[in-house]
Amino acid sequence: MRVIVIGSGIAGASTAYHLALRGAEVVVVDIERPGVATAAGAGIVSPWTTRRTDAEFRLAELAAAYYPELVAQLAEDGQTESSYEVVGGMVVSADERELAEAEQRIGARAAASPLAGEVRRLDPAQARELFPALAPELGAVHLSGSARVDGRQVREALLQAAKRRGVEIRVGQAELAGSGVRVDGETLGADRIVVAAGAWSAELLAPLGLTLDVAPQRGQISHFGLPGVDTASWPVVLPVSSHYLLAFPGSRVVAGATRETGSGFDHRVTAAGQFEVLEQALAVAPGLADATLLETRIGFRPASRDGAPLLGAVDGHPELLIATGFGPAGLTLAPYSGSLVAALAFDEDPTADLWPYRPGRVSAR
Ligand SMILES: Cc1cc2nc3c(=O)[nH]c(=O)nc-3n(C[C@H](O)[C@H](O)[C@H](O)COP(=O)(O)OP(=O)(O)OC[C@H]3O[C@@H](n4cnc5c(N)ncnc54)[C@H](O)[C@@H]3O)c2cc1C
Repeated sequence: MRVIVIGSGIAGASTAYHLALRGAEVVVVDIERPGVATAAGAGIVSPWTTRRTDAEFRLAELAAAYYPELVAQLAEDGQTESSYEVVGGMVVSADERELAEAEQRIGARAAASPLAGEVRRLDPAQARELFPALAPELGAVHLSGSARVDGRQVREALLQAAKRRGVEIRVGQAELAGSGVRVDGETLGADRIVVAAGAWSAELLAPLGLTLDVAPQRGQISHFGLPGVDTASWPVVLPVSSHYLLAFPGSRVVAGATRETGSGFDHRVTAAGQFEVLEQALAVAPGLADATLLETRIGFRPASRDGAPLLGAVDGHPELLIATGFGPAGLTLAPYSGSLVAALAFDEDPTADLWPYRPGRVSAR
């Protein structure tokens, strides 16, 4: 079985690695566009604390549960620095009613999921012990199983492990050409082609007259330095909004992010975007006021219209498989989804029901 994977973000990297684990001959093609979502993503893996529909939650829960297994598999393939770390998460608010609602919602999700860990209420002093930059009035609902990853590091670990298993990685712009892929004037033949080109996936399919419901949603996300402060074990902080904070080793705190639907591929840090990220971050964590603003990253989330991923075959093109539409949750969803798409490439039943995520569902309505 020869498979070409277009895109080496976390979706393509994971699919390629899982195909290689199954013994496929794999070529990955990537043009390294500015705004790759995986290189900008915050890295929160905590499906139990986010508001999702049941169908979205089921896949996300399976995906979060898969991470430890994947990390162990990567270690066997020599990749011990995958960056996955269970640091816990806190939904924070100054409003007791909001916290009570969050505790109930998270408790219900976590009860059915051993990996979610324990749910407990923290008063503002306890919350600040864990995340010292936090505003003094914020209480929290703490979930011990929330995790974080560095998207760049997971992607690199997957690609290095894939290479070790014989996967070829080519730099170049891919185009679909009949039953193959054209790269720099050369046509590569394949039994299966996986389109994992993130927000750019729709333009790959357009020349075939196929519509794929995925569009770029720009995210601007800022990194702060807190010299001399050990931030490695700080938990993820989730206010009751779409903004959040998380920390990494190396005295680094990350605050995100804008969600700019309709942005197109406009790769710029904007005044309004930067303002929004700073305003929200400092409202929740005024202790960051004196931090160094290190950088602001831009990523184009591959957003589907109904918010769910696009996974599986394209109607009328059995050789084409799609792995995209991960929107704001691809660092959680894509490592596991890559294993599902690899199973599909081998005509095997995947370990999750992919019917809700079939790529043709929107146009078929
Ligand atoms: C600001 C921000 C914060 C986020 N935070 C989180 C989070 O906390 N938790 C979480 O789970 N998710 C998060 N996400 C979402 C996650 O980052 C994305 O869903 C995920 O990275 C998408 O991965 P992907 O591989 O599908 O796409 P991408 O990472 O964008 O990769 C697509 C790849 O395809 C390549 N490509 C495109 N066209 C072609 C072509 N024609 N030929 C060859 N190569 C091509 C590109 O160069 C690129 O490398 C966040 C995203 C953003 C932007």
